[in-house]
Amino acid sequence: MIDDIDKLGLQAELVHTVCQLNHGSYDKENHQAVDYLVIPMGEDQGNDTTHSDAEMVIPICHECAEALQGDEWTLIYCLDCGKSHWVLRALSRLNYRHHIIWIKGCPECGSEFRGVYFSDEDEIVWDLAIHKKVA
Ligand SMILES: [Zn+2]
Ligand SMILES: [Zn+2]
Repeated sequence: MIDDIDKLGLQAELVHTVCQLNHGSYDKENHQAVDYLVIPMGEDQGNDTTHSDAEMVIPICHECAEALQGDEWTLIYCLDCGKSHWVLRALSRLNYRHHIIWIKGCPECGSEFRGVYFSDEDEIVWDLAIHKKVA
């Protein structure tokens, strides 16, 4: 996991970092990042062994950090291209219950769709680097 030194470095970098999540096509502003979404990348993420123990860190803003910890929104994030979008659970026909759904391959990047990975109860345990996730 991310140790204290890494954490300090990451925290310092936040000053000139903007949120990497999609705020919708109507919102072109840059949102100051306040935290990072941390995703452990397991060994079976393709055959690129150099990344076997890596973690992916995605800068996120306050608004996104809050949405990730509430029960109103589900984030769908493509691990291939980094594109994401938020789904308002109340307005969705699907009964989303995860905070994050990771996908490999999406219409945006045109990659072949290779799977869906859920967070929360299932195997991918995400966390926030600076402000620990509220359990
Ligand atoms: Zn954001
Ligand atoms: Zn994609």
